Order: sequence, then structure tokens, then C-alpha cells
Amino acid sequence: MRNDNSPPPPESGSSISTDRPWFTRRSTLVVGVAALAPAALAGWVLAQVFAGSGPDGQARPAPLPASHSALSPGQRDAKPGSTPSESASTSPGAGTSSPAAAPAPAPAPAKGPLTGRTVVVDPGHNTGNFKHTDEIDQQVDIGTNRKECDTTGTTTNSGYMEAEFTMDVSKRLRTALEAQGAKVVLTHETGDRAWGPCITERARIGNEAKADAVVSVHADGVSAGNRGFHIILPATVKSGSADTAKIVGPSRELGERIAGNFARATGSAPANYLGSGTGLVVRDDLGGLNLSTQPKVFIECGNMRDAKDAAQLTSPEWRQKAAQGIADGIVGFLGG
Ligand code: ZN
Repeated sequence: MRNDNSPPPPESGSSISTDRPWFTRRSTLVVGVAALAPAALAGWVLAQVFAGSGPDGQARPAPLPASHSALSPGQRDAKPGSTPSESASTSPGAGTSSPAAAPAPAPAPAKGPLTGRTVVVDPGHNTGNFKHTDEIDQQVDIGTNRKECDTTGTTTNSGYMEAEFTMDVSKRLRTALEAQGAKVVLTHETGDRAWGPCITERARIGNEAKADAVVSVHADGVSAGNRGFHIILPATVKSGSADTAKIVGPSRELGERIAGNFARATGSAPANYLGSGTGLVVRDDLGGLNLSTQPKVFIECGNMRDAKDAAQLTSPEWRQKAAQGIADGIVGFLGG
């Protein structure tokens, strides 16, 4: 849900890289060998080279849609004044449509457009937060002010918890990113901790990993009829330990890339209740963004309180599309 904070983002400096120096080097080498060797040998060498796969040793991903059409950057929305806070009101656990476990992460690092890149994925909330309200209610410093360490998140009307959703999508996202060669760090994993982490720690994990991109995965909890996804971008803030000046620009680009690819992959529309139809919203009240030193965004994948959105959020097939859309956006951002 959007009332929560989440983890931190990565840095931006290295966000865009389209060079493929090794391909250039290899091409040069092949040409050199061909020039020096007899024709027959040259032919053999070239045949060996081309018999293999692409330069990366594996298929290249399909090109991303050139753009993110519907989303024009530049649109800066006011903070959603409508942020509802229904999170704690619903009882967890009553879930009916719990999704199947996400696929296991790839065993060996793949080579691809994200080789050498680090992406931190932050599954919003924790299914244990409902049982640890005293702990998660402790106040932490987010630079601009103090806020709860973490929040419970919302649920669908049938009880499917946002924290289950975020963990499932995050694991699927990890698998998709690893397949492109990325090193992926999750801020927490199923069962590795009883509650949290606090938003300050979530941010720190992205910062310390020097992540090239950080995405915090959420789903919203507003009234029925409000539908669609939106991406939350960091506002420019400088106060206490918060200083987002360096990440505002790259985070917006990351957000736009994710928004366009998420819409394409899932068929979902940008939120109809905020963001003026752009699917982009800027906020200065989230510790996970304020404390980030790396490019970072939150994605609210849909509204768990709307029956039509909930039908998608509870579908493993839809969640796979959601994860793929986010991954494609990250690949686009990082120059894949
Ligand atoms: Zn949330």
C-alpha cells in the first residue's frame, strides 16, 4: 500500500550503458585472425564463431518498446492526498487464494545485458508484521521526519495479504533479472525474519549494495473502483540524513521505464485515481525513497481492495507478467 515506506534505492551514476565493448573486441579479433590465416582457416574460424550464439553467449532479449508512451515524464503529481490507510484494519491470514510458490532462483549466474549490475528488490511489508505491531510501530528517522519502522500492508477482501503478494512478485522478479545476468539482492526473504525490516534498513541494503537500481514492490489498498498501477518517484528532499538530489533524475527514468513495460506486459492501465493517468506519482514522505542514495522507485501494482484488480493480483500468471514487466523496465533503464 502506498502509505508505507520501503527500502532504499541505488545509485545512479551508472544507470545507462549501452556499450558492448567485448563484442567490439571480439569482432576485431576475428577479423585479425581471418586476415592473417589462409582462406580455409579463416573460413573455419568464422564458422566456429557464428555457430555459437550471440556475443553474450545467449539470446538477446527482445528490444524494449521504445517508449513509454502514455507516460510523459515531467508530470509531477502532487502527493496523493487520498492516501487511505486501511492497512491494519483487515485481518490477515484469512487468505483464500494464496498463490503458489515462486520459481526458484537460477542456480548459476547467467550472462546477459545486466551482467555486472546489481539490483535490489524490496518486497514491501512482511507477513509477520501483523503479529509484531509493537516492533513495527517503533519510530525511525527518515531524514524529513520520524515514521513507523514498517507497516502491515493491506489485504484483498478475501484476505490475501499484500506481503504475500510482494514476496511472490519479488522472487519472480529476481528470477527474471538473474536470467539477464544481474546480481539480485532481496531486502528480506520468506521466513528469514519475524517482522520488518524497518524502512531505514530496507534503504540501507540498497545503498550498501551500491545497487544500480532498486525497486520496492507493493500493492495499494484504496476503495473499490480505484484501479490500475502507479510508480512512486522520490521528490527532491534534503533534510537530516535524507538527500535525494542525485537520485531524482535517474529514479524518474527508472520509473518511466518500468511503467511502460509494466503496462505492456500486464495489460493494466495507469491508476485512475492519482497521477493524472501517467502512472507516475512523486512523494516526499516515504523513508525508503528519502534515504536512498541509489536510483529507486516503488511500484503499486494494483488496488487489492478492488475486485477486478484483486482478481489479477491473486493470479500467479498475472504476477509473472507483472514481474516480467518490471524486469524489462529495469533492463531498459540499465541500457540492455
Ligand atoms: Zn505497501
